[in-house]
Amino acid sequence: MTVTNFMGRLFQFRPTLYIVNALLWGVFHSLPVGVGLGMKWFFDDRAMSSSQDYLWLAVPLVAVAAIRFTRIGVFYVAIFEWVTYIYHLQAVLRRNMLAGIMRWPGRNLPASPGEAMTRFREDVDEVVEYVESWVDFWGRLIYAVVCLAIMANINWLITAVAILPLVLVTLLNNLSGSRARRYTQANREATGRITSFIAETFGAVQAVKLGQAEQHVLSRFERLNEGRRKAALMDSLFKKWMQSLNQHVLSVCTGVILLMCAAEMKAGRFTVGDIALFTSYLTSFSFSISLFGYMVFQHKRLRVALGRMRILFRPGEEDRVAEAGDIHLYADAPEAEEPAGREEDRLRSLEVRGLTYTYPESENGIRDISFQLERGQFLVITGRIGSGKSTLVRTLLGLLPKAEGNIVWNGRWVEKPAEFLKPPRSAYTPQVPRLFSDTLRENITQGRIVGPEEMDRALRLAVMEQDLLALEGGLETRVGPRGVMLSGGQIQRAATARMLMTHSDLLIFDDLSSALDVETEKTLWERLFAEPDVTCIAVSHRREALARADRIIVLKDGRVDAEGTLSELLEISEEMRLLWQGEASQAAGAAGEAARVPANAAVEGAEAAGPATIPGAAAAAGV
Ligand code: ATP
Ligand code: MG
Repeated sequence: MTVTNFMGRLFQFRPTLYIVNALLWGVFHSLPVGVGLGMKWFFDDRAMSSSQDYLWLAVPLVAVAAIRFTRIGVFYVAIFEWVTYIYHLQAVLRRNMLAGIMRWPGRNLPASPGEAMTRFREDVDEVVEYVESWVDFWGRLIYAVVCLAIMANINWLITAVAILPLVLVTLLNNLSGSRARRYTQANREATGRITSFIAETFGAVQAVKLGQAEQHVLSRFERLNEGRRKAALMDSLFKKWMQSLNQHVLSVCTGVILLMCAAEMKAGRFTVGDIALFTSYLTSFSFSISLFGYMVFQHKRLRVALGRMRILFRPGEEDRVAEAGDIHLYADAPEAEEPAGREEDRLRSLEVRGLTYTYPESENGIRDISFQLERGQFLVITGRIGSGKSTLVRTLLGLLPKAEGNIVWNGRWVEKPAEFLKPPRSAYTPQVPRLFSDTLRENITQGRIVGPEEMDRALRLAVMEQDLLALEGGLETRVGPRGVMLSGGQIQRAATARMLMTHSDLLIFDDLSSALDVETEKTLWERLFAEPDVTCIAVSHRREALARADRIIVLKDGRVDAEGTLSELLEISEEMRLLWQGEASQAAGAAGEAARVPANAAVEGAEAAGPATIPGAAAAAGV
């Protein structure tokens, strides 16, 4: 998509607002044509006439005042329309960029989130600045063309000299285009680097202090700052230099024109009215020409901003940056409607065939993974560290773009997993979940209004009730990066409660074991499977999960090493036997640990009085 195409598509968004703005600003910029004509008429026809009627002297004052007041009136209406228009434009661009990121949730941003913010701020502002030039363009163009026609009618030679700067300025701006882009790019990159560094430093304050790396961090900060200072200076200096060059070319030409006017006047070919008209037109005329020149410069520079915004989108979707859509500036957006056909959509079976994904520029990933899951079943994915468990789950959910393979839901091919496998069809708790800086309640409900029973159910299933007692504000405690720092396990369970709140058909857990102790995870599975009709895929190596599983997939180096029930796998798979034994020794360690945490152990022990805790018994219970 070129800058021209992009701007063309942007203007199609709210075209009425653009036209209203162009008209209002057109009137605003072209009204001064009347001032020049009025001055010529006054000096040539009235001031030079022998009439003693001094009342005529008031006419130009009244006319100029009328034009000025009309302009002020137009200005106030125009500024209101302009602000409305730019807020719509900024909102649609930012909304599209955010939607682009959201459609590709598993993908890493091209830089840190802090740097991505500069794309939402500076790059969007640059687009708006160029649109502003296009709003002013028509009024300035009308003004320039009418002025040219009037001036050429009086003296074509002087008028030709007035056009000269237009050619010069356009040429200059064209020539400077690639240099302008280079400086802008360097400035944005330097800003991005320092923003990322600040964000990273804030996130790792403790590590920096413990490592006594303050001085090292500070000197790196200074180096980055210096780089940014230089890049910003070059960019800003070049922009101002181009602006002032445009202005100066025009000022010099204005001077030459005035000298020519004086010579013409001396020769008697120029009247006082003519010189008044030329003087009145030349300043605004040069502004118009300077704008046209600057627009060429802006057009070239915008390629950088456009490229930076487009990179936030999935390959092939970049053009959606200029997609039109509803913006609700003055009211809340209407509630999203429930998707139609929910009943037919309810999970009956899920089939995965030959799923493959390899990380870019690496051999790591998953290859040719297939499995099947029926409603009400529990599938456990297990394997050593780095065997590809998270990659498999993320590829299934479309958070990583699959290279090959098919996902089939109720016998229907899922074309876009990221858009399809989301609540209420499927919900997911990642291995390292994140909470927002908000109350625990908001984090769990995600803004939905829920009744106390629904909340209690989610909290109970996620084994959170003891944690709540320990939190002073209970559900109203502010958590997340700017609140109470919850433990890894508490975050995992809050995220689990959030997931359960969606009442999705398929629940996907990525490795609860990495943050929960043996007892808590055991309680969680017990409570979850006491519910009717739970369909679940879980990454886990815990015995409790493995024993309950209807099917287990053992991954090794990104491939399925073995597949079956626990008893089958313990017979046929060496890898499974190793994992099972490894888990036994960990569980023994964890039991000792649990004894040191009486609060948890007491409740979880009481809750655990239900199903058996050893695999054989669990299997016998038919779980
Ligand atoms: P764990 O038990 O530690 O959670 P896992 O089985 O979930 O491990 P994955 O996170 O799926 O493992 O990673 C599988 C392999 O892919 C690992 O070797 C990992 O180092 C590698 N990997 C992960 N992310 C990337 C990436 N962005 N680029 C290249 N390789 C990656
Ligand atoms: Mg993992």
